[in-house]
Amino acid sequence: MKKLVMLMLALMLAGVTMAQAYDADVIVIGSGLAGHAATYSALEQGAKVLWIEKNPVLGGSTAIATGTFAAAETELQKERGIQDSRELFIQDINRIGHEKADQNILRAFVEKATAVWEWFVRAGLPVDVKRGPFIDPSHSPYSVPRTYVPSPNKSSIYTDLLYQKMQQYKDRLTILLNTKAEHLVVEQGRVTGVLTISDKGTVTYRAKAIILATGGYGSNREMIRQYSPKYSEVMTVTLPFATGDGHRMAKEVGAELVNMGYICAYFGGMPATPGKYAIGFGDLTSGAADAWKGDIWVNKRGERFINEDDSDEDPREVALNEQPDLESVIIFDQGMVDFNKRFPISNFEKRLAENPYAVKKADTLEELCAAFGLPVDQVRREVAATNADYAAGRVDRFGKKPAVPFSKGPWYGILNRGVIFMTQGGVKTDIGMRVLDSKGRWIPGLYAAGEVQGTSQWGGYGLAGGTGNAPPLVFGMEAGRNAASEAKLLK
Ligand SMILES: Cc1cc2nc3c(=O)[nH]c(=O)nc-3n(C[C@H](O)[C@H](O)[C@H](O)COP(=O)(O)OP(=O)(O)OC[C@H]3O[C@@H](n4cnc5c(N)ncnc54)[C@H](O)[C@@H]3O)c2cc1C
Repeated sequence: MKKLVMLMLALMLAGVTMAQAYDADVIVIGSGLAGHAATYSALEQGAKVLWIEKNPVLGGSTAIATGTFAAAETELQKERGIQDSRELFIQDINRIGHEKADQNILRAFVEKATAVWEWFVRAGLPVDVKRGPFIDPSHSPYSVPRTYVPSPNKSSIYTDLLYQKMQQYKDRLTILLNTKAEHLVVEQGRVTGVLTISDKGTVTYRAKAIILATGGYGSNREMIRQYSPKYSEVMTVTLPFATGDGHRMAKEVGAELVNMGYICAYFGGMPATPGKYAIGFGDLTSGAADAWKGDIWVNKRGERFINEDDSDEDPREVALNEQPDLESVIIFDQGMVDFNKRFPISNFEKRLAENPYAVKKADTLEELCAAFGLPVDQVRREVAATNADYAAGRVDRFGKKPAVPFSKGPWYGILNRGVIFMTQGGVKTDIGMRVLDSKGRWIPGLYAAGEVQGTSQWGGYGLAGGTGNAPPLVFGMEAGRNAASEAKLLK
């Protein structure tokens, strides 16, 4: 007897445990778009699923995200006579993403997105057919309309539908809320479990396959500092749970993390106070801005840095990311407000009153610059140059031909900072969502889907419209299917 105990102890120390019961076929960690899709598809394949979420409710980022979805060659496009192809979709993402996407992952996304979109439509997704398919002006434009919005435009529409559809399998589903996955368990070179922390204490759950659907790390300052120091102080609109737990857990078991140095901050961060912010002024700070003429954007040094009227958002976004503190002030005057009266800035007076730190009005340019701490001489030079270009009908150094000069006060300014919506670095996977190590080998039993993969794997260095939501859904479905198949093989 003593010998048997000694033998078991020796085996355990060598990392070999005696066969234990599994708590489920598949464990899914995280319950945003990717977690819902993975859970649904694993259940649909017949797997018994344990679903772990550290928040008290399911849903992840769908609590705040809007619902655009991009896919090519859809029925809706065909009905509208829109000529599209998957190749064109790939080309567009490569253009917007500066050719930096993992081409296999990008192709896998584009190939599968159509079927996933049609699945949602057949399942009863309410689609806003008046708006979609359309070319989303708040992102660098696709060559053809291929962005869709649900009605209402909320990404929770997808998770609500998936949750409803998974009720038919609820006898095979266990959901653990308020349960944080802390570490992955490796036995004989295979990921077989998750160590969790909850008010039950520390509990390890075992399964034949584990799916990380833990989202990004936009709310983890330490990680941002470590991997992308330039973005250490950049504002974020991601929710507090976006702390990169999946990245850390995967790395602990040997997974490769890719593109962690890269973050693409988006337009429209408007500080409410120095430490707090709101998002807003899509009318001026997003792609729709090209309808609004005249405004100039200056950085902290008072210098212009971009063609403000460019209808392609990408160059403007890239340029904003290069400015000190990712900050610019949008400057215009009353003459421009009058000129653009067909495109009024929504609730401007209200915003002036409610957000005085970021939105300011002054009688003179000098007062406006003082209020924002801008070097007035340099801003004066930019204003004078704009007026001279206008008078001469000249194209300026950024390729813009001013449509309206600065003519009369009062003067207005809007502080606009780059803001993190999603994180681009993540856990490297193959096209079956199997997690890879630094030598490109599978880590058996481990899958990752959604923002935990890093949006750059499918999108490169940019933000193409509808590719924040669609890939977590597409890859979540894929991960659930493949994890369930792997689990079947282990029976
Ligand atoms: C304000 C905003 C607007 C957006 N609008 C759009 C849009 O219009 N179009 C678009 O395409 N994209 C948009 N996006 C991006 C898109 O919403 C996200 O890319 C997507 O929701 C990510 O889904 P996910 O499932 O990968 O991660 P998440 O939804 O972030 O889910 C991750 C889940 O994992 C859980 N979790 C994390 N760690 C653990 C752990 N250790 N243990 C247990 N659970 C854990 C979290 O609590 C969370 O529930 C937007 C994002 C934001 C912030």
